[in-house]
Amino acid sequence: MQRDRITDDIYVLTSDLYAQVNAGVVFASDGVVVIDTLPFPDETREIIALVEKEAEGRPIYLVLTHYHTDHTFGACLFPNAIAIAHTLCRKRLEEHGEQALQAAKAQDPAFAPLSLRLPEVVVKEGDLLLRLGNKTLQLFHAPGHSPDGLAVYVREDRILFTGDVMMPIPYIVDGDVGQTIATLQRFRELQIETMVPGHGEPILRGEVPDAIQANINYLNTIVREVRRYLQQGKPREALRELDVESCGIPRIALNGLAPQLHHRNLLALYQRLSAEIQPAPRARATKTSSRSSRAS
Ligand SMILES: [Zn+2]
Repeated sequence: MQRDRITDDIYVLTSDLYAQVNAGVVFASDGVVVIDTLPFPDETREIIALVEKEAEGRPIYLVLTHYHTDHTFGACLFPNAIAIAHTLCRKRLEEHGEQALQAAKAQDPAFAPLSLRLPEVVVKEGDLLLRLGNKTLQLFHAPGHSPDGLAVYVREDRILFTGDVMMPIPYIVDGDVGQTIATLQRFRELQIETMVPGHGEPILRGEVPDAIQANINYLNTIVREVRRYLQQGKPREALRELDVESCGIPRIALNGLAPQLHHRNLLALYQRLSAEIQPAPRARATKTSSRSSRAS
């Protein structure tokens, strides 16, 4: 696990074991807030060691940015924390959490100590403010990567923990392109010193606008390209031609996971858009081409 102290009392903890997942810890005068856990229990225990060493009796809160297992598996290791999430996160954990946990345990004994932990406090509408003495944490709905996204903005320090709606490559297989773009636009309204994405390196103030724009551009590009493939009647296998770099994201992004996530994005979009887009009829295509050949 990498430990990055981004201010005097705010840490980012990054997994070495899986996809550069980020967790955060905010030490406020009246409480300690842990934002997400790491996928493997041993790494989450390192967060617990940091928190216990410094908490000095302050109450501990655990905010879950969304229900995906790589961010929530460690929640049960914080039995004394008050766990907070969006209401849709709790619902999804209730519906899928146990099954996902059993599947992980069957794959890897490292997950054996874990059990399902549901958040006690849910955010349903509007923002939730955690006023903890010298720090105010604003929790707000940030859907797009998944419907239940919850972002955390530390007002005094202007630090934004985005959850997975911001990543080195947007990932919308369980989410929605329009919602992702809308959430990223909302982030633009905040003054941000450091943006901590759900995966990958923190983004510093001067780089934030470009990083947001790059992700919006990527999403617009893949929607446009997949539409074009569908209009041309190309099969889904043809999406292999559509390289991640040609859509504006480096192949090496997210430790080289980018091409794989990109391809899954394309397949998901193809599936969704195929309901609304029919290939251009052949007769019309012929007419158009004969007209254009006459004109040339
Ligand atoms: Zn996720």
